[in-house]
Amino acid sequence: MCNGDDMQTELENRATAPEGDHVTDRLGRPMRDLRLSVIDRCNFRCTYCMPAEEVGPNFPWLGMSEWLSFEEMLRLVRQFARLGVEKIRLTGGEPLLRAHLPELVKGLRAIPGIKDLAMTTNGILLSLYAADLKEAGLDRVTVSLDALDETVFRTMNGGFDAPAKVLEGIEAAQAAGFKDIKINTVVRRDINMGELVPILTKFRGSDVVVRFIEYMDVGNVNHWESDQVVSSAELIDLISNQWEIEPVAKNYSGEVADRYRYADGSGEIGFVSSISQPFCRPCNRSRLSVDGKLFTCLFATEGTDLREPVRSGESDEELHDRIAAIWTQRTDQYSQLRWGGKKKKDGDKKIEMFYIGG
Ligand code: SF4
Repeated sequence: MCNGDDMQTELENRATAPEGDHVTDRLGRPMRDLRLSVIDRCNFRCTYCMPAEEVGPNFPWLGMSEWLSFEEMLRLVRQFARLGVEKIRLTGGEPLLRAHLPELVKGLRAIPGIKDLAMTTNGILLSLYAADLKEAGLDRVTVSLDALDETVFRTMNGGFDAPAKVLEGIEAAQAAGFKDIKINTVVRRDINMGELVPILTKFRGSDVVVRFIEYMDVGNVNHWESDQVVSSAELIDLISNQWEIEPVAKNYSGEVADRYRYADGSGEIGFVSSISQPFCRPCNRSRLSVDGKLFTCLFATEGTDLREPVRSGESDEELHDRIAAIWTQRTDQYSQLRWGGKKKKDGDKKIEMFYIGG
C-alpha cells in the first residue's frame, strides 16, 4: 500500500494524454465504473447516510424538473461508454422510487460497451420490480441489509419497515433469475455488531454474498465518529472464531471489496475497508448525480454540471470532450489521504452520499 506522498510524486509524473478514446486520470486510472444516481430521495433514513434528525420532512429535495430525464441520462452515458465506462451501477437515494426504471435499464442495456449493469437498493420495493428489471436487462442486484433483528434494523434505518420485507425482495430477485446477489451490511460498533453471525448464518450455503462495509465519514450529516468504526480486520477475527475463512483474489482491478470464502465451501464474504485499508490506488469510479453533476470521488466537495450543456444543445462530441477533460485532471484519493492522517480543510463541505450513491 503506498502512502499519500508516493501518490503525490506519481501525480507529478503522470499528466498523460488520453490513449485512443479511453481516458485515464492523473494517476493513470481508467474510467470503468459509473455510479448513476436516478433520484435523491429515499424511503429510509439510515443513520450512516441521511439520519432523520438531519434530513427531515422539510428537506430541500431537488424538484423533478431538476432531475435528468432518462433520455438525457442515456445521452451522457453513451459518452461515458466511449471514454471507457463498462459498468453502470444504478443508485440514489433509493433507485426503485424513480418511476419507470425498467425503461432506463432497457436503454442502458442497448449502449455499446456497457458490459455490466447493476443496482443497489434497500430492497423494500424489490419484490415489486425484480422481474421487470431482470427482463429489461439488469445483470446484478446489491441489497442493503444491516440487521435481521427488527429493532436493530429500525435503529439503523431510522425506524422504517422490517427486515422480512427485504428478505422477500431478495427471494423475488432470486425467483426472477438474479444470481450472486450481494448484501451490503454497514457495521456500527454501537448498534449492529450482534447481527454479523445471524446475517452470515442466514446466507451461508447460498450464492448470496454478504459484504461488510466499514462505517464511513461520508457527507456532513451522519455525525461520524471513528470509534464507531469496526475494522475489517476485527470482523475477520470475529468471524474466524465461528467459521474458517480464507482470502480469495479480487475479480478485477478496482473491485472495492476484499473477498473471502468459507474454507468448507459454503460461499463467499466480502469486506469494504475504506477507513482501515483505503483502495484509492485503482479507483476507477465516477458518479453522476440525478441532476447531472459529475463527481470524481465519493468524498468530493464539488461536481461539474453536465445538465446545462445537455439542455443548451451541446453536441455529443462536445459532451464527450467535456467529460474527458474532467477525468484526465482527476487526482482524487480522499481515503488514502485520510489514512495518511491528512484531513479535509475545515469548512470543506463534502457531497452527501444520498445524492451520488455509495
Ligand atoms: S475515496 Fe475517492 S478516490 Fe478513494 S476509493 Fe473512494 S471514491 Fe475512489
